[in-house]
Amino acid sequence: MQAIVDLFRIETANTDLMRAQMRALRNQVPLLYVILAINSTAIAVTYLGVAPNWLTVYPLGGLLALCSLRFGVWLRGRRQPLDETRLAAKLRLTVGLAGALAVGFMAWSCALFGYGDAYAQAHMLFYVGTTTIACVLCLVHLRAAALLVTAIVTILFCLHVSRLDNQIMRAIGLNLVIVSAALAFVIVAYYRDFTRLIGQQVELERLSRENLRLANLDTLTELPNRRSFFASLDQAAAEAGAGGQPFVVGLVDLDGFKPVNDAQGHGAGDAVLQEAARRLHAVVGGAGVVARLGGDEFGLVLRGATALAATGEAICGALAMPFRLPHGGTAQIGASIGFAAYPEAGHKAAQLVERADFALYHAKTHSRGAAILFTEEHERLLRTQSVIEQALRHADLARELNLVFQPIVDARRGRTVAFEALARWTHPELGPISPAVFIPIAERAGLITRITAVLFGQALAAARAWPERVALSFNLSMADIASPQAAAALVAAIRASGLPPERVILEVTETALIQDVAQAQTVLETLKASGIAIALDDFGTGYSSLSYVHRLPLDKLKIDRSFVSEVTTDPASRDIITSIAALARNLTLDCVVEGIETDEQARLLKELGFVLMQGYHFGRPMAFPDTLRYLDSEAVRAIRPVQAVA
Ligand code: C2E
Ligand code: CA
Ligand code: CA
Repeated sequence: MQAIVDLFRIETANTDLMRAQMRALRNQVPLLYVILAINSTAIAVTYLGVAPNWLTVYPLGGLLALCSLRFGVWLRGRRQPLDETRLAAKLRLTVGLAGALAVGFMAWSCALFGYGDAYAQAHMLFYVGTTTIACVLCLVHLRAAALLVTAIVTILFCLHVSRLDNQIMRAIGLNLVIVSAALAFVIVAYYRDFTRLIGQQVELERLSRENLRLANLDTLTELPNRRSFFASLDQAAAEAGAGGQPFVVGLVDLDGFKPVNDAQGHGAGDAVLQEAARRLHAVVGGAGVVARLGGDEFGLVLRGATALAATGEAICGALAMPFRLPHGGTAQIGASIGFAAYPEAGHKAAQLVERADFALYHAKTHSRGAAILFTEEHERLLRTQSVIEQALRHADLARELNLVFQPIVDARRGRTVAFEALARWTHPELGPISPAVFIPIAERAGLITRITAVLFGQALAAARAWPERVALSFNLSMADIASPQAAAALVAAIRASGLPPERVILEVTETALIQDVAQAQTVLETLKASGIAIALDDFGTGYSSLSYVHRLPLDKLKIDRSFVSEVTTDPASRDIITSIAALARNLTLDCVVEGIETDEQARLLKELGFVLMQGYHFGRPMAFPDTLRYLDSEAVRAIRPVQAVA
């Protein structure tokens, strides 16, 4: 019984279903009224003059008025959005009206029936049958209404024919019962499928919304992702191009994130990224978009006239605050930012990102922890750089690149123990270009491994001409130690040259190592296993040095020349150098002091206990033939050992 009652219920808990029902009914119910009006007019005409007017003309008039009224209501309601309660109410009203109309029509039909002759009665039977089926089909998405109409028509019809003493009529009644039962069965089945279909549709929509959300979301930080960032950027550029407000692109890169991630584990790294995302969001707020572009890089699109300097400072400040780690302790990192403003730095998204990236690169190399806006000066630099990059791409590397060599001496014994190979590039048109300029460009352009291969070959060949006690010190870039394959290529080159690996020192900088300490560690271990020595170059200028120096398989530290230039005048420089020396001793690493230009510096450093030294004071970088002469003369007169200051 309950199951039958349920068939007539409106599923008010399922709003999506109710909406779908309303959509279907809005298309079909007006049709129902049209059919009803036309068919009923035909019946009234058939019975006109046969039955009294109060049974034909007047009811028809009332009926037509009602039909057009409801037709109008449905048409007008077509575009009206309805809330849940009004939806349910409207569906209930539809069921009620359908029932009432079915009763009214059947009463009218039954009252008219007796007046007609056999033809008129046949018309009436046809009218009741076809109109019912048409109306039920129009109401099929509202099961309650469709079933109610079927039931009312069938019951009233059967009651009516059972009172007539006519076998044919009873047979027709029986027919109707069978057809109605089938109709009810079809309605129930159809409605079940319809409900299921709507359920699936809703789920599908939900899934595709979720997909869209995930496709544009960085799941770790819940910020928009790279794809979404570029979409926002394209939109901002399009709007600004169409006369909308200008905007600024920002690239934020965390400084010192990698060591935290490597040393404290990925859990800590993730927590830092999430917190960084929160802080960025808190600073930028509604003034723009904050997205995570990948790794420890975030992107900003700041709309309108923002006080850029203040925003940059606020972001750097926020990210310089200590980060609490999940398993206790804190991490100190920072952030550098590159900004590029529309339209000054470009009109297109890609151009703006490239320029913001260039500004970021400048921030990273010249003013870590600060925000830099791309300016005309940068534009000039970028142009020169791209000229150099193009020249490098098309250069005949083997011909245009060559090496000069700078001695590294044992200051106590006054003997050269190694030469550091330094790259020189002379372009046929651009002339000589400093390695300090072209090496970073080659690194950024992905050309460095080719350059390294050419130079390393030249360096190994040169080293073979030196006495056995003189080693070769060669500079590597990040890409050269970024993969086991790259390391294998270096080892293979040494093997091919015939130079014992023990005579090779490879210099790597902290900035190169810091990118991926774990990877660097394995690569350096492979190199070291084949007998090569590893020196950490420019020591003291890197970001967070001491924490992981002991984890790396190092043989030497090269103290950056910036500490040396002031060692005789500035007590602080002297203290730093002394403590680096102590650290090196503790880690049993050799120390090379670079950039010694004066006798005074050399004496003082020797007094501080340093042995290995390099700098203009001992020898400037020289061409290969000069190294041979230099070694010869050294052998003859032996550099006067540096005297310790008394
Ligand atoms: P670096 O490895 O620190 O090389 C030492 C730099 O200091 C050289 O500059 C050298 O000429 C200079 N120098 C040496 N003694 C003194 C001194 O007493 N006073 C002063 N003021 N400078 C001194 P250079 O040759 O211009 O090289 C610059 C940088 O370019 C190098 O710094 C190194 O990082 C990079 N580089 C040079 N050659 C190569 C190479 O073959 N491969 C790679 N990856 N990088 C290289
Ligand atoms: Ca070096
Ligand atoms: Ca150096």
